[in-house]
Amino acid sequence: MGLRSLPVSSKENSAQTNNELKRLNELYALEVLDTLPEERFDRYTRLAASVFNVSTVLISLVDSKRQWSKSFYGVHVPDTARDVSFCGAAIAEEEIFVVPDALEDDRFARNPLVTGASHIRFYAGAILKGPNGYPLGTLCLMDQFARDFHPKWRQCLVQFAKLVEHELHVNYLLKHTKEDLEKALFYNHLTDMPNRRLFTQRLAQRLDRRKENDEIIVFSLMIKRFHHIKNVFGQGIAYGIVNELNFRLRKTFDIDLNIAHDETGCFLLFVQVPSGFSKTPSFQEIIDSLLSTFRKPFHVVEESSLPGKKLEMLSGGLGISISPKDGDKADELIEKASVAMHSNQVTGITFKIYKEKFSNRIANYFDVKSRLRHALEHDHLDIAYQPIMNCQSGRICGVEALCRWNDHENGSISPIDFIPIAEESGLIVKLGEFMFRQACEHLQGWQKEGSPPIFVSVNIVREQLFRESFRLFVKQTLQQMQLDPSSFKLEITESSFIDNVDEAIKHMNEIIKMGVRFVVDDFGTGYSSLSYLRKLPVSTLKIDKSFISQLTQNNRDALLTHSIISLSKRLGLDVIAEGVETKEQLLFLQAYQCDQVQGYLFSKPLNEPDFRKFLAANHHISNEVNH
Ligand code: C2E
Ligand code: MG
Ligand code: MG
Repeated sequence: MGLRSLPVSSKENSAQTNNELKRLNELYALEVLDTLPEERFDRYTRLAASVFNVSTVLISLVDSKRQWSKSFYGVHVPDTARDVSFCGAAIAEEEIFVVPDALEDDRFARNPLVTGASHIRFYAGAILKGPNGYPLGTLCLMDQFARDFHPKWRQCLVQFAKLVEHELHVNYLLKHTKEDLEKALFYNHLTDMPNRRLFTQRLAQRLDRRKENDEIIVFSLMIKRFHHIKNVFGQGIAYGIVNELNFRLRKTFDIDLNIAHDETGCFLLFVQVPSGFSKTPSFQEIIDSLLSTFRKPFHVVEESSLPGKKLEMLSGGLGISISPKDGDKADELIEKASVAMHSNQVTGITFKIYKEKFSNRIANYFDVKSRLRHALEHDHLDIAYQPIMNCQSGRICGVEALCRWNDHENGSISPIDFIPIAEESGLIVKLGEFMFRQACEHLQGWQKEGSPPIFVSVNIVREQLFRESFRLFVKQTLQQMQLDPSSFKLEITESSFIDNVDEAIKHMNEIIKMGVRFVVDDFGTGYSSLSYLRKLPVSTLKIDKSFISQLTQNNRDALLTHSIISLSKRLGLDVIAEGVETKEQLLFLQAYQCDQVQGYLFSKPLNEPDFRKFLAANHHISNEVNH
C-alpha cells in the first residue's frame, strides 16, 4: 500500500502546494541534489552505522517525485520513487519517524522496499531541515530485521541529524555570505546602487576594451550640502533625492550608462563616445542637461511623512576627466574628475574639466575647513571696511563689510578661498552672524562719533537667505542695538537664488519688511538674466569688477557697463561699480551716470580703526581725480 492520502479541502490543498514549493526551493538552494559522494557526509553515515549498530544508514533527500541519497553506508538501497519511500513519509513528521517492523505496519507491509530485494523491516529517520526550517529529507537507519528503538536512541539520532544538517547548510551559507559580502563591497546598502569600487572595476574593464578612437568621459557629480540635507530632512529624504537623481540622470543619457553613488552624495558616471566628442556642442548639451537634473524641484516622499516634501534648494557641482587626454587608468580618471568637482566647491563654479592645478588646491581644502572652524570658535576672524563713494556728491555714502582671516600658520587667507568652504560646511551661518553683529556695533560707534549718514553693506549667501534663524537674528540684532534697518544692505550674488527665484523673493521680502535693502553683487558674472531683475525686490545692482577693469580698453565691456547702468536706471535701481582702480575708469563711470563707486582708487578695505580715520577725514572723490 502506498502512503495514506487524506481528503483535503481546496484551501488546504493550495496551502500544501505552496509549502511544498517553498520546501523544494529550499532544497534546490542547497545545491546538493545529484552531486557526487563527499567524505564529509560519508563520515557521518559510517559513524551512525557503528553507533546505532544497523546495517544501513542514508542521508536521504526528498525531491518532488523521488528520494535520492547523498551518502549511504551498508546494504545499497536504490533511489526510489517518493511515494514508496520511507523518507517521503518521514518528512511529514516534526522530528523523527520510526517504523519498528515494516511487516507489521499496514502502511509499509506491501512496500517493494520491504517485499523486494532490500528486505527492509526497520526504519528510523530523523528529519533534516533547510536553513529556513523546511523538511528536506532524513538521516535514516535501516535494518533487515525488526527492532525496538528506545526513546534515548531516538534523541541521539535527532542530535546526529542536526550535525548532518549543519553540513548540508555549509555550501548554502557560504554562497549567501559571499553574495552578502559582494553586495556590501560593491553596492550602496541604502540605495542598492553600485558604489565607487564596482564603478572603478567597470571603468577599468571598459578602458581595456576601448576602441582606439573612442573617448571615455568620466563625470563626478555632487549634491552640494548633502550632509546638511541628511541632517535636516533625514536619511529617508536624502536617499529619496539620490534615487530621484539617479532616475533623472538615466533619462538624460538614453545610452548605456554606468552610474555609481557613494555615501557623500557623489555620483560617478562614465560614457564612451567617439573621439573628439568632448569638443562638440553636443557635449556641452550633455553638461547642461546634467546640471539641470539638479534644478527641477524634488518631490520626495518619505514613507513616514506622506504626502511628501518638496525640496528646491538643491545645487550640484560637476567635475569631468577625459581618457585618453587625462590618463587611461580608472583610478586616475576618477580622481581627476573628483578633483575638478571639488574645485567647483572652492570656486563656486558649476562645472570644471580637470586641470593639473586643481590638485594642490584640494590638498588643503579639508585643512582649511578645520582651521576655519577653530578660527570662528576662538574669535580669530576680523572685519574690514571698504568705502563706497557717491559719484554725484563725491562723498562717502556707504561701506562694504568684508571678512578677514589671518591664520596664525598660513597668514592671511582670502575670502575667495574660505567663504565657499564656510558655505559648504555650514560654518557660514556663524560667520554671517559674526559679520552682521560686528558691523552693527561698529556703525553704532561711528554714529556716536558723528559720522555722516552711511549705509553698511554685508555679504550673505543663499544658506543665510533661506534660513529663518538668520532672518530672526538680523531683526533681533537691529532691535537690540536700536539701529535704523535702512542703514543696512545685504549683498547677494545671482548664483544664490537663480535656481529658485520665487522662493528667494519670498525670503527677501520678509527681510525688506524690516527695512533692510538688497544688492545684487558681482552682477554680470553669473546668469545675468535680465528678465528676473524686474521682479526681484532689490534696490541696487553692483557691477562686477571684471567689467570695470577693462572699461577703458575693451569696447564690449564699456558697452555692457553702459547698458547695465541705463537698464538699472529704467528699472529704478541704484548702480554701484566695484573695483574702480583708475581715474579713467571713474571718469567713464561718471559719464555713464553710475550712482556709486567702490575700489582701490578711493581706498582698499581698511581695518576698523583706519576706516574710522577715513570717515573723519571726510574724503571727496574729486581729490582722487585731481591727484
Ligand atoms: P565682493 O563682495 O564682490 O567684494 C569685493 C571684493 O573686491 C573684495 O575682495 C574687495 O577687497 C575687492 N576689491 C575692492 N576694490 C577692488 C579694486 O579696486 N580692485 C580689485 N582687484 N579688487 C577690489 P575680498 O575682500 O577678497 O572678498 C572677496 C569676496 O569674498 C567678496 O566679493 C565676497 O563675495 C566674499 N566675502 C568677503 N567677505 C564676506 C562675508 O563676510 N560674507 C560672505 N558671504 N562673503 C564674503
Ligand atoms: Mg560684496
Ligand atoms: Mg562683488
